[in-house]
Amino acid sequence: MKKILFAIFAHPDDESFGPSGTLLMEAQAGTEIHLILLTSGDSGTNPDNHADLSAVRLKEWQAAGELMGAHAMHYLGYKDGQMNNHSMIEIVERVTDLITPIVEIAPVDAKIEFITNDLNGITGHIDHIVAARAACQAFYQMKKDDERFQRIRLCCLSRQEAPYVNVDWLYMEAGRTLEEINETVDARQLRDEIIAIIRTHHTQRHDGEYCIRKHGEQLGINHFIVKT
Ligand SMILES: [Zn+2]
Repeated sequence: MKKILFAIFAHPDDESFGPSGTLLMEAQAGTEIHLILLTSGDSGTNPDNHADLSAVRLKEWQAAGELMGAHAMHYLGYKDGQMNNHSMIEIVERVTDLITPIVEIAPVDAKIEFITNDLNGITGHIDHIVAARAACQAFYQMKKDDERFQRIRLCCLSRQEAPYVNVDWLYMEAGRTLEEINETVDARQLRDEIIAIIRTHHTQRHDGEYCIRKHGEQLGINHFIVKT
């Protein structure tokens, strides 16, 4: 049975530093993965002083998607850090317009799923919150008329990974409790592939290496709140 997964994220490294293990496992199981990216991450760190950080980060994202086994990649061209209510509403329309022709030609018994980040934005970044809320709205609007839309998974941190509220930068909530987490995917066996994906984001290597160190042996464990 055909499965199509739409992964909707704000920044080029969000899925790599987040649920890349899950996406790899999905691709290996034959799922058709579409990565939908809202911004080029042009407000990210630029340690090599690239004149056009957007272009470099989009290339990094392209390389990460290829390593993940993405079937197609769609970039929507918003400005990093400047998402708002207005852009959220527009993103819902654009995501819907993008997905509609793809699912129109899919078999009647296809399974369609979304994946995005926790509605709290994980780090609290407003772009993450906009991406998650736009994804949920698009999902539930399309699901109303199409029962092939099965579930949307919101990638979250566990309470173990983030025990406390963190206000070092943005207001970042503590991780989700075991009761709040509906699914945990174990992709630890894909550690080398996950590290390679994280390292495609060379311009964001400071965060990438932190991500690898922080997760340690647990790299590849992904937690989700699952909504149907
Ligand atoms: Zn991000």
